[in-house]
This record gives sequence, C-alpha cells and structure tokens, in this order.
Amino acid sequence: MSVARCSAAHYRVPREVWWGQGRIGASLYEISHVELVTFEVETEEGVTGLGFTYTVGHGGSAVLALLEHEIAPELIGRDPRDVEAIWHELHAKLHFVGSSGVTAVAVAAADIALWDVCARTAGLPLYRFLGAHRAEIPAYASAVNLALSRDQLVAQMVGYREQGFSALKMKVGGTFRDDVERVRAVRDAIGSDCQLMLDANMAWDVAEAARRLRSFEPFDISWVEEPLPPHDVAGYVALQRATSTPLAAGETLFTPHEFGPYFRTGAIRIPQPDVVRLGVTGWRRVASAALDFGLPLAPHFIPEIHVHLICAVPNALNLEYLPIFERLLERPVEVRGGIARPGEMPGHDMRFSEEILEPYRVGAKEVQLR
Ligand SMILES: [Mg+2]
Repeated sequence: MSVARCSAAHYRVPREVWWGQGRIGASLYEISHVELVTFEVETEEGVTGLGFTYTVGHGGSAVLALLEHEIAPELIGRDPRDVEAIWHELHAKLHFVGSSGVTAVAVAAADIALWDVCARTAGLPLYRFLGAHRAEIPAYASAVNLALSRDQLVAQMVGYREQGFSALKMKVGGTFRDDVERVRAVRDAIGSDCQLMLDANMAWDVAEAARRLRSFEPFDISWVEEPLPPHDVAGYVALQRATSTPLAAGETLFTPHEFGPYFRTGAIRIPQPDVVRLGVTGWRRVASAALDFGLPLAPHFIPEIHVHLICAVPNALNLEYLPIFERLLERPVEVRGGIARPGEMPGHDMRFSEEILEPYRVGAKEVQLR
C-alpha cells in the first residue's frame, strides 16, 4: 500500500456560515472567520483519508504552503501504515523552522489523513482501529461566549441544560466584576447539580489569576482552563498549589514535548490535547503520558474526531461539545442527553461539505501532487 496522491485546500469561512447565534469571542480575540486547511491522501488502491487543521482566522496560508511544498512530496510513494515513523520524520525535517506552531499543525493534518487511511483500509471506525476502551463518553456543552450579554449567556447555558447536558463551560476573562456576576448568574440559572467549568483563554498573570480563582470559589467550579499563557509553566505550578480548583490546559500546546514540563511538575490536573496540533500520533503520546501521571483527559474542541480518540484511551474524562463546525460537516457528532458516541463508519468519518465550503476557498484551485 502506498500514497499515490495528495491534495490540499484552504478555506476562509465567515462566522455567519458556521455560527448563527451572534458574536463569538474569548478573552484575547473575537472570531470573524475560521480558516480550514484540508489535506486528502489517496492510496494506489483508491482508499482516501482526510486530514485537516484550522485557525481562528490567520496563518492558514502558511500551513497550506508547508503541506504543499514540504509534506506532500514526502508522502508520495510512502506506506501510510508507517504513519508514526512519518510523523517523526516530518517533525525532524521541519525542525529548523520550529517544532511547534505552523509546523506542528501542518504535520498534524497529514498525520490525521494517514490514520484515516489506515482505519478505512481496515474497515474499522477509528476508535476501534486504535483499540476501543468504550463506545460512549459524557459530553459537556461549551461555547465561545464572552461577547454575549449576561442575559444572552444565561439563555445559552440554560438552553444547553435543557438539551440534557449536565456539565457546561463558559468563557471568563472580562473585568473582575463582570466575570463574577456572569458566573453567579449562570450558576443560579443552571442549579447546583450541574458541573460548571470556566475558560480564561490565557487572560491573566499569576497574581490576577489567583485573585480571580478566589472570587470563583463560592460557585463550585469543576476546572479553570488556561488561566495563564502556555509558556508560564512555573506560574501554573504556583497557581495549582494555591487553589483547590483543578487547572486545565493543553489546547495551545503543539507537541508532546510541550506537555512534559506540565506533567512532571504537577502544573495542571486536566490535560486538554488537541489533535489538530498534535496529530493522532502526538495526541496518543500525550494521552499515554497523562495516564502514567494519573491525569484524566478532556480533549479540546472538534468533538467529531476527538470522540474517537477519547473512546480509545483508558483515562477519558469527557468530550467538549462545541458545535462550531457542525454546519460545515456532512455528519456532525452524535450527542444525546449529554452522551456522545463515535460512529461505526470506517475512519474518523469527518467529511466537510464541498458545496458549503467551495465559495470560501482561498486561491484559485486546490493543490494536487502525484
Ligand atoms: Mg479553551
């Protein structure tokens, strides 16, 4: 089996196409577009696999360039079953332009495509191909909702509660007073028997985060996510020692190496690896290391593929249900009563709607290599 063809495409999709519920923002940004970079691999036998990554509006053209000029030529003629070796080779080849960031997400897109090919060749859904531990996982409802008014936020959270979710996550990172009032309003509205998590998206330094965490203590918070920037591991360690609230982070870590210091120092209690940064190969390495340190996993976003990965590890906590790509997909993830289930079609079975995406393609045509 060998790779006969690769094709890459880059789309810049305005918010109105994928999100019908008004503004969408977090502490450091408001999102007007998502960029989607897709990468398809086809074997000589005609089996295809789809990889992808995304940005919150910037940098997609650099990812596309790496896939087109550096990664696709390496894959032609290779056996996709060598996927783990290929992940390491690509990282080694691109090391001198940086092992993280653009490099990591481009390698991740190719890696996801190769794992998809392998699972589809075997005729198995990805979670079974990887070695299933479970066939369902609790999902929590999540939203990028810092740009909503307090009333809109409460209505959104109550709406998720009514759909059967028993765990919810909201953004924080506004003013001190606003944050406390918004958290209090949501807690009052959803009741005491619903888990509530907060996501600060790197808004604070250690002193401010410590102050904020104390202000949230009356509201029974299950975790506070990314209180600090990802480079401040020492800050996370100090903060985690000073609070009983579990800290979560990992969505802005791009390689397994970047998780190492967090695990070794007890900086966080809940790692949140993201397959669009790590690839399936890197994601599974992080999951395995987390297991060794006794930490449960709560992967970041893209529930459609993470439902497969989280169901294939023993240390699963929950799945983030954030349906931002739902309108762009042919088959969104199945979530009922707050429980998500991976599909039984071969591979990860994520396929984007070409009809919806085509008007938003960046550049004249997709890049193909044979
Ligand atoms: Mg987050």
